[in-house]
Amino acid sequence: MFGIGEIELFAIDLDGVVYRGDRVLPGAPSFISQIRGMGKSLVFVTNSTLRPKAYYVSKLESMGIPVIPQEILTAAHATGRYLKRCFDGASPTIFLLGERGLEEELEYLKPRYLSFQDDEVAQAVVVGLDRKINYRKLCKAVRDVMEGALFIGVNGDPLWPVEDGFMPGVGVFLSAIREATGVEPFIVGKPNTYMLELAIKVYGCTPSQVLMIGDKLDSDIMMGNRVGAKTALVLSGVTSPEELKEAPTDMQPYIVARDLAHLEDILFYSE
Ligand SMILES: [Mg+2]
Repeated sequence: MFGIGEIELFAIDLDGVVYRGDRVLPGAPSFISQIRGMGKSLVFVTNSTLRPKAYYVSKLESMGIPVIPQEILTAAHATGRYLKRCFDGASPTIFLLGERGLEEELEYLKPRYLSFQDDEVAQAVVVGLDRKINYRKLCKAVRDVMEGALFIGVNGDPLWPVEDGFMPGVGVFLSAIREATGVEPFIVGKPNTYMLELAIKVYGCTPSQVLMIGDKLDSDIMMGNRVGAKTALVLSGVTSPEELKEAPTDMQPYIVARDLAHLEDILFYSE
């Protein structure tokens, strides 16, 4: 175990940790205000590709968790940061498989979007969740990647959890394009380390001063461990105690708690 004094940045997943659907989970508002009270930094890290930051700000506020947009790090936003770095701040031409929320997050790059009917080859093919994907869009994505466009996945999740089960996720589209082209995408979202490394840079701390809190072993916890952060698993989301027991070493968290209320007890009151 580590002392709370070692932690400067709390990186917290949203779904299954802070809320489930529209329901706030036990202890979340209190845990967040406790962190703020101690003067620590926090950032919410989500693989979401559909919604702009403003959506999360108002959702969290409605749950009694005041937050500023800079404290929300979505995979969609991080994709914009990655593109900015790749193109040195210049406006790229993009072929986008994605929806309005992703487009909004990329707007500040002033990209020029190509349609599936354009012959011009995009500089980057960016793949998020697109519920209106069709064969012609897939053709354009495959052709442009074959012609040398950067191939970027907002996240690699094969499944997208919804209220009544699962839908196919971004990973399904990436697999199709990878299968056709033989090109591996760069994946921005968890469990890859790009998002957490970005947060570490923005907040100016070291990896070991970060506590990554999440409910998914092969996503939140794996990313945290890969970066060299401390990790905490809450069992209020998708992971069962049995799954935890069987998980390999690189997915084992430092701490396990039932939910954020329990984690607050462990971190703040047990020393
Ligand atoms: Mg989650």
